[in-house]
This record gives sequence, C-alpha cells and structure tokens, in this order.
Amino acid sequence: VKAFPASRSLRDMMRGQRPVLRAVNGVSLEVAAGRALGIVGESGCGKTTTARLLLRLEEATSGSVLFEGQNVSALRGAALLPFRSRVQLVFQNPFDALNPRFTIRRSLAEPLRNFGVPPDQQEARIREAMGRVRLDPPEAYLDRHPHELSGGQLQRVVLARALVTHPRAIIADEPVSMLDVSVRAGVLNVLRRARDELQLAAIYISHDLALIRYVCEAVAVMYLGRIVESGPTAEVIAAPAHPYTRALVAAVPVPRVDQDRGDLPIRGGLPDQLNQPSGCAFRDRCPLAFARCAEEAPPLRAIAPGRHAACHLA
Ligand code: SF4
Repeated sequence: VKAFPASRSLRDMMRGQRPVLRAVNGVSLEVAAGRALGIVGESGCGKTTTARLLLRLEEATSGSVLFEGQNVSALRGAALLPFRSRVQLVFQNPFDALNPRFTIRRSLAEPLRNFGVPPDQQEARIREAMGRVRLDPPEAYLDRHPHELSGGQLQRVVLARALVTHPRAIIADEPVSMLDVSVRAGVLNVLRRARDELQLAAIYISHDLALIRYVCEAVAVMYLGRIVESGPTAEVIAAPAHPYTRALVAAVPVPRVDQDRGDLPIRGGLPDQLNQPSGCAFRDRCPLAFARCAEEAPPLRAIAPGRHAACHLA
C-alpha cells in the first residue's frame, strides 16, 4: 500500500497552500493464511492508517490491496461486500464497539444480516462464533447487554462478531490495550486459537512489542509512515538492526534487572510530520546519527534472508 502525494513544508502553509501529509508512504506488507504479522510503532507512526487502507476504509492515492489474488483496490459499493465479509476488524475498545442497547445476540446477528446470511442459519452461526471465543454456554450471554459483561468477556464478543461472518483474515488494532492486564493473555490466546483453527491471516497492530512477540511470527516496525525494519519476530527482537527497533526492544520489561541488552535510549518524541528532517526521518532522535544520515534517506533493503532494514548502518 502506498499513500499520499508529496508533503509540503511549513513554508507552504505560511504561503496559504494546504499541506499534504504522508501518513503512510511506500509500505508493502504480505501475510499468508494461518500466519500473523505484527505492525509495531509509536502513536502517530501510521499503523492504524495502514490498517484502514488495507480494509479499504481509507483510499490510498497509489498502490493496491491484493486479497486472495484479487485486486480489491478498484472495487466500489456492492462489489466490496464479499471482501468486507472476508476481512474483519477487531476493534480496540470493546466498550465502544458494541451498541449498548443491543443484546449480544442482536450485535452478532447484525453483520450476518448485512452480508445476506439467511435468518434460519443465523442462530447456528452465532453459537458457533461464541464457542470459538470460549463464551460457553452461549445462552448464558446472548440475551444480555454489554453493561452486564466484563471487559474481557466484551472483547471476546467483539471477536465473535468478527468471526461470525467466516472471515479469511482479521486485523486487530490494539486488541487488548483497553483491558486489565489479568485478562489480556486469555483474549490473546482466544485470538491465536481462532487463527490456528480457521487458518486465518492475521495482522496485529500494537505499540507493544511484547504482545507482538507473543502472537506474531513476523513483525514490521513503522516510523513516521514508513517501515524501518521487518523480519521474523524472534530474529528482529534478538538482534534488532535499526536503532529505533533497538529502542523499542529496550523498552520491553525483562524479569532480570542485571540483564544487559545494550539499551539504546532515543531522544524526544516524533517530529512534526509536515516538517521532517532531511535524510533519515529518525535522525533527530538517533544516538548513532552521522553526517550521511542528514543527506541521504536510507532505503529499506534486505540485510539477511527474510529481513529488511532502513538504516545506513544496518
Ligand atoms: Fe540513525 Fe543514520 Fe541509521 Fe537513520 S540512517 S537510523 S540516523 S544511523
């Protein structure tokens, strides 16, 4: 997915021209059935915009989304319905995702109605989805309203609503960040089991590298709308090639305080996206920056089989 034409500087804004922000730029991702890819990075790095582009909730100015061999980028209106039923989004906040006036049954029946599943098949599909997320027995939940369920139960309902349409892919945007720590592992295990049982392609979006390590075989690290490193999760975490990834890894808590991971602190926050530094966009925060970094943006290039990084030193 590539998005948005060239950005303009603050000078252009002063001249009264509307600036164009490159929220996502030159990003290319692939995920196979039964596999999980994590997209990780700080708030504002373009993770959620990438997900919305993949879901066709935003239109990219260039690039394409291929799903099961079909280019879905040009589809409009009713032609998009099959894609919408086959690629589902798991929302971040279960407390907002469900209509508080609907029973759980009605919330799960709604997507089935939207996608034309006959009424006599809907109850079986709803019960199947509730079983997949381990809300057993379904009748204990289906006639209740969201306020009668805990956060963990609600997020399982949100996942059941995503699974009820029999999708082939799911995109989970910070799927447990609004939940108590005590119930997060349970929800992640339900997601992982559903992915394995149904051979779903899964994309997880998170700022939390520990979560990505737990559920994803592959990871793409984003910074200011670009991928700066990608590869098998275990390899990237064991030996991060980009200074930004090293800083993210250093931020993951470890059980032993005497363990030296060569932590690499980074300075400050994300720069103004409309006024990025020349050369490498990470330059102002990078403790390893040198002269070439100001002159030349490092391309994302292969550094080992299956691994890519965008740093002159990688
Ligand atoms: Fe740091 Fe330079 Fe690498 Fe950018 S290219 S991450 S500034 S060392």
